[in-house]
Amino acid sequence: MSKIGATTGPRVLLKRLREVMAESLGAQERLDKIVRHIAANMVAEVCSVYVLRADSVLELFATQGLNPGSVHEASLRVGQGLVGTIAATARPLNLDNAQSHPAFAYLPETGEEIYHSFLGVPILRSGRALGVLVVQNQARRHYREDEVEALETTAMVIAELIAAGELEGLNKQGTKLDLSRPLQLSGTALAEGLGLGYVVLHEPRVVVTNLFNEDAAAEVERLHLALGRLRISIDDLLDRREVATDGEHREVLEAYRMFANDRGWVRRMEEAIANGLTAEAAVEKVQSDNRARMSRHADPYLRERLHDFDDLAFRLLRELVGRPHGPMQEELPRDCIVVARNMGAAELLDYSREKLRGLVIEEGTPTSHVVIVAKALGIPVVGQIGDVAGMAESGNPIIVDGDEGMVFLRPPADVETAYVEKVRFRASRQAQFAALRDEPSVTRDGVSIELHMNAGLAMDLAQLELSGAAGIGLFRTELQFMVASHFPRLGEQEKFYRSVLKAAGDKPVTFRTLDIGGDKVLPYGRMLQEENPALGWRAIRLSIDRPGLMRGQIRALLKAASGVKLKVMLPMVTEIREIRRIKLLIEREMAFLSRFGHALPSDYKLGCMIEVPSLLWQMDELMDEVDFISVGSNDLFQFIMASDRGNAMIANRFDPLSRSFLRVLKSIADKANSRNMPLTLCGEIAGKPLSAMALFGIGFRSVSMAPSAIGPVKAAVRQLDLGKLSSILLPELARPVSDGTIRELLMRFAGENGIQY
Ligand code: PEP
Ligand code: MG
Repeated sequence: MSKIGATTGPRVLLKRLREVMAESLGAQERLDKIVRHIAANMVAEVCSVYVLRADSVLELFATQGLNPGSVHEASLRVGQGLVGTIAATARPLNLDNAQSHPAFAYLPETGEEIYHSFLGVPILRSGRALGVLVVQNQARRHYREDEVEALETTAMVIAELIAAGELEGLNKQGTKLDLSRPLQLSGTALAEGLGLGYVVLHEPRVVVTNLFNEDAAAEVERLHLALGRLRISIDDLLDRREVATDGEHREVLEAYRMFANDRGWVRRMEEAIANGLTAEAAVEKVQSDNRARMSRHADPYLRERLHDFDDLAFRLLRELVGRPHGPMQEELPRDCIVVARNMGAAELLDYSREKLRGLVIEEGTPTSHVVIVAKALGIPVVGQIGDVAGMAESGNPIIVDGDEGMVFLRPPADVETAYVEKVRFRASRQAQFAALRDEPSVTRDGVSIELHMNAGLAMDLAQLELSGAAGIGLFRTELQFMVASHFPRLGEQEKFYRSVLKAAGDKPVTFRTLDIGGDKVLPYGRMLQEENPALGWRAIRLSIDRPGLMRGQIRALLKAASGVKLKVMLPMVTEIREIRRIKLLIEREMAFLSRFGHALPSDYKLGCMIEVPSLLWQMDELMDEVDFISVGSNDLFQFIMASDRGNAMIANRFDPLSRSFLRVLKSIADKANSRNMPLTLCGEIAGKPLSAMALFGIGFRSVSMAPSAIGPVKAAVRQLDLGKLSSILLPELARPVSDGTIRELLMRFAGENGIQY
């Protein structure tokens, strides 16, 4: 009895396994040794490992006790037999009479009919079953809770072996392991382009290299210290935010705090440590169990909570290993595709642009900041792909298709070849567009169209030259504020605006004053929690209520443009008096600067964005007040259609090429053109050849878009007979029909006239 006592127990087993892992052995030998140790330690006659293959078959990889000839021969499909049931449900099965279980499937080659009791646990990684670990005994017995726990802990060791690719190649010829299974995932296209490369996990799964502890008490202490730091950081988060005493946001943070103090969670981690794991291995094990348990629920509330729990476990792991986000630059592969659950705009900038080929995020909408920055960097982005970070392993080959919203993880050779071809084709198209850079933007029938670019970050400026844009039609000044770690001081703003003007040279730049609020949150700012932020305290509304902020920006702009031309544009104007307020402020600033001997801009023009529908009925008054107008079609469309621009559920529900919206835009163009008021449009629709064509057809002669869109739109302009288009488009727009969109008509026209869209 005493002999058994010395060789059993989870701690002893983990110690043995650690030794086995350290030995220099072949993969099969190591696995064979592992099952022998488990069987001996758990006083089981049988211990077997089944590994999941890409064809959803669980193959017997090693056994102690069953017929050795059945290794790599015996197999079960997922869902078939006890082993298949465990893999399908990601749950253990503990049976004192396996044969009487309805799922029992007899595999004659294994000779397992004499074993009655059966304990099987899934081999989990990030909540997914990669295989099944089983022990069996002849005598009927129910395995104790601590034995189940011990076997689960042991399964982690095997999960690491599988994830590290050690077992690859042992499997039956012509098959692949599940972990190398190609996955085609569809999400939302957030930034166009194609990227081929290798997965870089933004929040690298803290690879728990040290699974086994030397000293359980010391590990429990480490865990508690880390938990303490975690709790403090959550309390900080709660204090720092200017959250109302109630409200949804606070509830989420409170839930975080509740989880962090959850006794059950902490107890299960302590148990795992008591069984021999290190603190970080314990966090990972418990989290993997949580995921397996909770991800089976379809209930969106529960899944959301799982997400919170995941977040918490990630934070705790980072507390334990003290590892910052993102890998070291030197560790990055040459072509890296960052895979993240979510990330801030500034974090993307931490990756070397030379190596970055794409971004995949589990969350994210077209207007999230990280997407704005990715677009500025020219990186394709696909978002809204649930659990992609859990399915991808660092270094996996991956393709991001930002045009179609598709991601191919571990792509098969034919998909990869097709994409290499696509990239080549795209590059040749880019080369065609680049060749148009210095060509005039004039239609076939001689109408000049001004193509400007949108910008907002220093890195955009190089594009002014490369794209051949006529100028910067929209400079989103808030972007600089959004990616900064602190509120940019006046001197910093001035320096930045001066560098923009210098880079632009003779080309005009239209600076839009701060459009913060709504979804544009400053990481260091104290933002209000609003029910409807897009309709809330944002842009010019905030500027009027915080004149100090606006004055600072205006002063920085005036000083930066000393002696040169300055164009300033106001966002989200609803009423004319808002423009008057800002005008007064600008005049005072000018007077102030003159008094102190500063040279003013050589020319100064004030413009207004049309984004709020109320302005449509104040067009005459508006044009009396400003020097130019610019339609912000992203916001105008969301307000006209009552359709949240950041909500992926309705992103494609309404068409900007619908008659209703085009009629609105035409009424603006008619009014502006009748008074020779300079007019432009700077929303997303300006950058798509088809919708840009429609804009020209209804009277726009100037548009501003992402720099990458200038080439394709210029190619369309130069191929366009505008008179012909207008003669078809305008009557069609006026026709009273119930089917709103004229997209098909435009596509037909483009097709017939050799215009690529
Ligand atoms: C718009 O609303 O169309 C626009 C150009 O501004 P932003 O996208 O920055 O809101
Ligand atoms: Mg806008």
